[in-house]
Amino acid sequence: MDFLSEELQKYVEDHTAPESELLKQLNRETHAHVMMPRMLSGHVQGRVLAAFSHMIKPHNVLEIGTYTGYSAICLAEGLSKDGKLYTIDINEELEEMVKDYFVKAGVSDKIEYLIGNAVDLIPALKVQFDLVFIDADKINYSNYFDLVIDKVTAGGFIVADNVLWSGKVVNQDKADKDTQALLDFNRKVHNDTRVENVLFPVRDGLMVMRKIAD
Ligand code: SAH
Ligand code: CA
Repeated sequence: MDFLSEELQKYVEDHTAPESELLKQLNRETHAHVMMPRMLSGHVQGRVLAAFSHMIKPHNVLEIGTYTGYSAICLAEGLSKDGKLYTIDINEELEEMVKDYFVKAGVSDKIEYLIGNAVDLIPALKVQFDLVFIDADKINYSNYFDLVIDKVTAGGFIVADNVLWSGKVVNQDKADKDTQALLDFNRKVHNDTRVENVLFPVRDGLMVMRKIAD
């Protein structure tokens, strides 16, 4: 479901910095050859993630859910010098394509691309993150929050995608498992005093959380 009319969506796209040629190509190739291309962040959300990255100038970024690498390339844009982006995906079938795009984007030396279940891999990361992007299986969103919160620097950010779940979060009577998981996640982070949160109604909903300094 799109929250904006087609006309407004077009106006937003027309007044947002365009995708680079490479991101356009990755967007097209994902739509042509990969299952569930709607999962790719796309033009406007990609620029939003890039803007956050430029604002935060993170030293280390963690992305949970690489898919074809679109959001990773956007999030890598604002990395500080010597900064690293760690990105995790359970789907090893996309490995070759993703690595190829990281090379073409000139970011392969800044990216640690880890293949496996994020629930198992995150605890082994001995790194502090200034920015975390949660975008994998919705069932585990609350687990991901718990696994990363102590690894986020004070003043750092956690961003979670798809928190409006096509509007299903306000249709709670027939909540399926994913919707219920997102309802639990949104309530949990909203009530957690360690973070100050704001739900951006960008595309499918971005929950942006700032970790408060203790
Ligand atoms: N961030 C991407 C889209 C991610 S789609 C973009 O915006 O372009 C969600 C991804 O999460 C899929 O590629 C899927 O394989 C991955 N995923 C699902 N469950 C996972 C898990 N338990 N651990 C790691 N990755 C997982
Ligand atoms: Ca997503």
